[in-house]
Amino acid sequence: MAGKKSISRREFVVGISGAMLGGAAMAAKKKTPSRKSPLAIDGGQKAVPSRPAAQPRWGQRELNQLSEMLQQRSLFYWQGGYGPQTKLLIERYRQFNPAKWVHTCSSGTAAIHIAVAAAGIGLGDEVITSPVTDIGTVIGIIYQQAVPVFADLGEGTYNLDPADVERRITPRTKAIIAVHLAGNPCDMDALKAIADKHNLILIEDCCQAWGAKYRGRPIGSVGHIACHSLQNSKHVTCGDGGVVASSDERFGPYLQQFGDKGNNRMTPVSFDAFATNYRMSEPQAAVAAAQLTRLEQIASKRNRLGNLLNEQLADIPGLIPHQVHPDDRCVYWFYMFRIRPEAFRCNRSRFVKALLAEGAWVVGGYIKYPLYKEPVFQKHGFFAGRWPVKEMGLTDMDYSKHQCPEAEKILVTNIRVPIYEYMTEEYILNVAKAIRKVATYYAA
Ligand SMILES: *Cc1c(COP(=O)(O)O)cnc(C)c1O
Repeated sequence: MAGKKSISRREFVVGISGAMLGGAAMAAKKKTPSRKSPLAIDGGQKAVPSRPAAQPRWGQRELNQLSEMLQQRSLFYWQGGYGPQTKLLIERYRQFNPAKWVHTCSSGTAAIHIAVAAAGIGLGDEVITSPVTDIGTVIGIIYQQAVPVFADLGEGTYNLDPADVERRITPRTKAIIAVHLAGNPCDMDALKAIADKHNLILIEDCCQAWGAKYRGRPIGSVGHIACHSLQNSKHVTCGDGGVVASSDERFGPYLQQFGDKGNNRMTPVSFDAFATNYRMSEPQAAVAAAQLTRLEQIASKRNRLGNLLNEQLADIPGLIPHQVHPDDRCVYWFYMFRIRPEAFRCNRSRFVKALLAEGAWVVGGYIKYPLYKEPVFQKHGFFAGRWPVKEMGLTDMDYSKHQCPEAEKILVTNIRVPIYEYMTEEYILNVAKAIRKVATYYAA
């Protein structure tokens, strides 16, 4: 690996504070509540008097685009070339990530399945990825009869630890899927160096990272293939949808084909590939294309609010803040911090209840288990209760023995703070106050 040293927590905190903060935020930080500030859960005053109301996420722009779309004779994505709405969506996607091949599809899960298939990943091939992610990250791997291998995570980045990825490489390893969890870019230089050294394909799961940047470069542009979701909870949406993109000659030309039953619509020939139907229709593309005009504002606002919260929490003993590299743009699909259990006289559940009583919107935990702990993995029961590659002796993977200790610790010590573009800096500063108050009160 090229000698890029990862930065210490002190360095990244300093980086953020210098870049992001105005005077108001600095002043607010100094008001450390005394140990005796009564918690709202015990009848004291709330730290967060009110929460901003959610704003509509779509309106006139989407309506205009849909009206235009309804003038068309066809609602199908292919009209001798990409349909007008699909073409517009692809064009607008390229304004963020100028990839040579960009294809629309029905979901983020579909985008990743298309990527895996286009990469030629098959029977018994191993794909290293994160165990703390949406299950859609691994569905395509398993459907291609390949084997997800879960690597451990950074304690505060919640992203793949490159050293552990390298430890899990075997002669069967074919790819890495880097998940930019919560919109925080993975250490792509390190992962790319590992991929290059071992001749692996690097796929980026950007489903939670619309608008993010890695060292100033658009998310999805470092790896070989980028996958995005347009599901309702993501930064931009058309209800359900996805985008898959690549600039690599080996994979790009196949994205369309593997999303459309194996049909190569550019040069129609006999079926020489097999795939399922993951197409996105023109009505969805119209909404998604209109949504992309809102992305920059959404991404920059979430970036600002998340960084502000991160700076506020940096000096609170017993907390592990969200570790974001100062040269990256994290788009905070959510903000996530951890509590060090030994630093507090209460458990996470009590900590969360106290925060909710203060008026701060927080959620204890994320997914229930690291993916390999889910029953379907523990039983290797992916296909009608069976797993062909294991029965055929093409893998000796045993998920009941799989371990990612840091990932397991993350999921029992994490607290998420929802970040939305409609929120205000004032609200975020109050949430930070609530966290400081509760942490101070329960400090061991
Ligand atoms: C949402 C999500 C997916 C799956 O996207 P869908 O559109 O819901 O299929 C995959 N990976 C991550 C990290 C996600 O957040």
